[in-house]
Amino acid sequence: MFTGVTEGQIYFTLSHRAQTLKATDTSKAFDKVWKDGLLVKLLRKGVSSNMYQWIRSYLYNRRARVNVDQTKSKKFLLRHGVPQGGVLSPTLFLLFIDDLVSEMPKGIKAALYADDLVIWCKEEHASTATYRMQQAADRLNAWAEDWCVSINKEKSSTTLFTLSPKQKAGTIRLGGTPLREDEEATYLGVTFDRRQTWKPHIAQAETKARRKLAILRKLAGTTWGANEKILKTVYQGTIRPHLEYGSTAWSTSAKTNLQTLDRVQNQALRLITGAMKSTPIKEMEKLTTIQPLCQRREAKTMVQAEKLKCLPDHPMKHRLSNLTKNRLKRSSFVHESKRLSRQYREVLPQNTLPLTQEEEETPKATEKPGIQICTSVPHVTSGEDQNDTARQALTLALIDEQYPKEAWIHVYTDGSATNAVLNGGAGILIQFPGGHTATSSVATGKHCTNYKAEAEALMQAASFVQDSADPCYQVVFLSDALSVLQALENDKLPQLAKALQMVRQTRRVVLQWIPAHCGIPGNERADELAKEGAVEDQPENSVSFSEQKTIIKALMRPRTNRDDYHTMSREQQVNLIRLRTGHNRLNAHMNRKFKLAPSPTCACGQEDQTAEHILQRCPLLDEERKKVWPSPTPLQTKLYGSRQELEKTTTFITSAGLIV
Ligand SMILES: [Zn+2]
Repeated sequence: MFTGVTEGQIYFTLSHRAQTLKATDTSKAFDKVWKDGLLVKLLRKGVSSNMYQWIRSYLYNRRARVNVDQTKSKKFLLRHGVPQGGVLSPTLFLLFIDDLVSEMPKGIKAALYADDLVIWCKEEHASTATYRMQQAADRLNAWAEDWCVSINKEKSSTTLFTLSPKQKAGTIRLGGTPLREDEEATYLGVTFDRRQTWKPHIAQAETKARRKLAILRKLAGTTWGANEKILKTVYQGTIRPHLEYGSTAWSTSAKTNLQTLDRVQNQALRLITGAMKSTPIKEMEKLTTIQPLCQRREAKTMVQAEKLKCLPDHPMKHRLSNLTKNRLKRSSFVHESKRLSRQYREVLPQNTLPLTQEEEETPKATEKPGIQICTSVPHVTSGEDQNDTARQALTLALIDEQYPKEAWIHVYTDGSATNAVLNGGAGILIQFPGGHTATSSVATGKHCTNYKAEAEALMQAASFVQDSADPCYQVVFLSDALSVLQALENDKLPQLAKALQMVRQTRRVVLQWIPAHCGIPGNERADELAKEGAVEDQPENSVSFSEQKTIIKALMRPRTNRDDYHTMSREQQVNLIRLRTGHNRLNAHMNRKFKLAPSPTCACGQEDQTAEHILQRCPLLDEERKKVWPSPTPLQTKLYGSRQELEKTTTFITSAGLIV
């Protein structure tokens, strides 16, 4: 909640003309907490009796001693501060400092993160802003004196944000000491510059990311070392975060600034794939399914805008749903998010439900005695080493043994949505011990995630079973939706838990995970039924914020296709991308692109030396080619076929002694 509000307020104020932002830093925060003062504040907040006594005894009479090479000093009493490293200390510190923000004069906004305080205000003229900030600084100083807090004046500074070069900031004093005036202020890792160009922030992000790029370079040889999958993980985990931190704030910066970040990603893409310098970025993005940074920023902007719209009483809510007066004549967060929402109007849900307290909090554990959830099948793995036939056999054996048909109602459920987010459907197949069956397919909404469709299928199935008069008192729900079963286990689906609890009153209930798409007949039938439900005419429906977020991300995410390239070794991968893209060291490319080969023609003299020529036609390589491919094979198969086919291609390149 806290950060959400702060972000919004920062955007809110940044679009106004003049305002001051000031960062102060209370030195060595935890050591300096005045204990008597803290106890007074605890009493004021209504902490009393045992709890009060307990905290009091925790704070007082703490002794410490120094130990050097077995020699111990005398014990001495710690007079100030909450214990360093104690689990309670941050909370106690927050209680101590909490009233500072509320004591600020009206119109002054403040954000506090641990001991890092920022206060700001927005005014038409710099002189007014300075005057108000001085008032706030005086109040801050008085508070510090009252509560024995020392403020590090060297580390505190002021910044005036304005687009007008004529506006000058006045000096602000803290307890008589004039504060330094900075061109930029950094708060929680984001650097705000005077004119809000975000140039300094982006430059810093670039530097940090480039430093980390060295790791990637060390891991990525062209003939050895880590393959694409590992390099991609390293990039996404350690480098990209630097390129994206705080992007919802600065994504409207000028294109030239943003491009400096794109260049870092492009360089990483080249290292990850081992592709030649001339290779088009698009091809590398497609192969690695690493999204362009601008697209990811757009998704983040959309998610953030949706979140602000869902928060009740948020100052941004109003601005996001009204026409913009674009005073700044350059793009803003509001502007950008409106443009995106127009662009994706057709595919995105138009109504997001307000974000309620419950959704943000972790729900309380619900009592679920007697409902058993099994999220695995013995010996079934998710690895590629196990094939579908093995999975099917293991699963069917488990069902036969654990849930014999004669004694259990089998309920197969499945949910599906187009591209994981559109037109959801739920399918249910119930097999009763007597031999009769029941089926049902239901539409679950135009905007629906797989997860929701799966959960909905279980909900419907539960009420179906509850209403059935079959005398069998044991029921097993068989579902391939692992995430739904896990969520249920962790009390994240209270409604479904309630529905199952109703069934539980009359029957024994087990939920059993089964592997998907491996030919379990009941599961296949439920899948068909779900697809039937999905094609029914679906009305526009509202979604929750977290569903909206999933839908936005899925929409923007690049589609992945099965490509055995990803399973190959580094050397094979490098060869393949060079052959596939045509950006390689063969004569045709080296001559035309780099003027590094004297002629584009192959040594055989018949035509240009391209990937197709050497793989399909070059007479000089006929013998090698026959060894690898005894019968003619299309180029498409050689470059994009199964792992076996791809391996043949790389073997051919190596044995022909070609360097691509
Ligand atoms: Zn040739």
